[in-house]
Amino acid sequence: MSLRDKLLLAQVPLALALLVVGVVAVGTLGRVGHAGRDILADNYRSVRSMQRINENLERVNSSALFAISDEGQWSLELANTRLHPLEAELKAQEGNITEPGEAEATLRLSRAWARYRSAYEAFSAADTPRARRSVYLDEMAPAFQDAKFSIQIVLEINQDAMVNKSDALQRQSRRVNTLMVTAVVVALVGGLLASSSLTQRALRPVSVLSQAVRRLGQGDLATRAVVQGKDEIAQLARDFNAMAEALQRYRQSSLGELLQAQASSQAAIDSLPDPVVVFGVEGGVLNVNRAAEEVLRLSVEGSGGALGQVAPEVREVLERVRAHVLGGKGPYLPRGYEDAVRVEAQEGDRWLLPRGSPVYGEAGGVVGASVLLQDVTRLRRFDELKNDLVATVAHEFRTPLTSLRMAIHLCAEGVPGPITEKQADLLYAAREDCERLQGIVDDLLDLSRLQSGRVELEVRPVSTEAVLEAALAPHQVAADERGVRLSLEQEPGLERVEADPERLQLVLSNLVANAVRHTSRGGEVVARARQEGERVRFEVADTGEGIAPEHQQRIFEKFYRVPGASTGGAGLGLSIAQEIVQAHGGEMGLSSQPGVGSTFWFTLPRTGGAEGEG
Ligand code: ADP
Repeated sequence: MSLRDKLLLAQVPLALALLVVGVVAVGTLGRVGHAGRDILADNYRSVRSMQRINENLERVNSSALFAISDEGQWSLELANTRLHPLEAELKAQEGNITEPGEAEATLRLSRAWARYRSAYEAFSAADTPRARRSVYLDEMAPAFQDAKFSIQIVLEINQDAMVNKSDALQRQSRRVNTLMVTAVVVALVGGLLASSSLTQRALRPVSVLSQAVRRLGQGDLATRAVVQGKDEIAQLARDFNAMAEALQRYRQSSLGELLQAQASSQAAIDSLPDPVVVFGVEGGVLNVNRAAEEVLRLSVEGSGGALGQVAPEVREVLERVRAHVLGGKGPYLPRGYEDAVRVEAQEGDRWLLPRGSPVYGEAGGVVGASVLLQDVTRLRRFDELKNDLVATVAHEFRTPLTSLRMAIHLCAEGVPGPITEKQADLLYAAREDCERLQGIVDDLLDLSRLQSGRVELEVRPVSTEAVLEAALAPHQVAADERGVRLSLEQEPGLERVEADPERLQLVLSNLVANAVRHTSRGGEVVARARQEGERVRFEVADTGEGIAPEHQQRIFEKFYRVPGASTGGAGLGLSIAQEIVQAHGGEMGLSSQPGVGSTFWFTLPRTGGAEGEG
């Protein structure tokens, strides 16, 4: 059944109630009408008959009295006209006996009239007034009185009946009133109750559906609207259930998987023992792991995306790595343990080494940066220990090495006494090794001083051309011997740099020595400098053997030498060069392709004035 039919059906009780009230009203009004008609038919007609009989009788009688006089002939003719209507009314009354006692009274009237009529006949036939008077007085007058009396009785019987019936009618009409009011109230209340109950039943599925919709809106996707039937609401409920089903499936499949993936990736970074901070492309903190919350006291909710609550040293490191990665410079790798930052913790200071990686979006662009702060407390201690040991050993080597060199030199020169040629060769070889050893020891001490920050730089404006020439000159002989062309390219009008000239020369000298050493005959080494914003960029480019990518990052580490490369020093030159450049506030790097050549570069801050001015 459709909803429209159900709603129509709900109106039926009310309509039925109205019908019942109508029928009852028509019935009772009909009864009241009947009662009224009965009074008219039964009693009023009798009353009217009696009145007419009485009137006619009076006329006949008075005509008779008048006729007792002589000229009474005319009035009897008039009286004769009354006889017939009187008898007609009497007949009608005889056929309208309705009340108890009425029959006897009517019979008495009929008899009295019969007597009167026959007396009247005799009266009419009498030809003298005297005879008439005798008839009148003897027969007619008693019959007249009897008839009058009977008329009075019939009248009274019917009038009393009319009064009684009118009272009864009044009572009945009061009862009808009460009955009608009761019927209207009962029908109205019953009809309304039945109608509203039916309407409610018809509309109950709507409330079931609306509750289900509300629950779905509150996130309960398992909710369903249980509605039976085939009407429009049942159809709507089925459609709603299908929609909830689809939503649930969708959430279970996509959102569920998404949440699970998010939860597991959060669990994965939480499982890392080292702090991890993930930055968005705008630089705000997007996510941190548990270790970061504990060690750095940094939380995404608390920070609002900023690093304000992190200790200043750590913040500076995080900002540097973030700027490096988001600036499109690729992953950030620490140069060594000296890059580690100290964080105060309950169990003592911890050293954290930063590493940064770009987070790539679907389109391949950088959409964020993740920074891992690796706990290198123990490793850094080892490194410090190693550095201390190396520094101590180097320091302890210096004095004996000096006297060793002196002794070898004196012996080789034959100061203590003459030596054979063979002995001299051995002593020269020993002296060469001693020189090399001295160089390594000097480098080590230099490096250790640089790393510990014990080196005082004598920074002043330095001419780039002069320092380049001074760096190239000592290697010219070696370059010529190896058949390598050594040249200098200088951008005209280049500004001077802020640097310690001796140290800067040492850096350039190291780079040129390496370049010459790793370039084969016929190759070329070029040293150049050019301006780059607020800085001057130095480059030493060669057309030598080049360096494989896997060694390029490690090449600046202490003692690191490319395996299988032509021999050089102890692997300290580049470390020292990088330390010096960084001590000046500059950066150092390289680009190299195996078999094509390498270009080592570094930048230094420039001074305000152009070269040659100062
Ligand atoms: P060393 O004093 O032993 O040369 P460095 O620190 O200067 O140590 O260099 C480290 C390593 O880098 C060297 O062993 C060498 O293999 C490689 N290297 C340095 N410069 C060049 C270059 N210009 N071409 C190729 N390899 C180079």
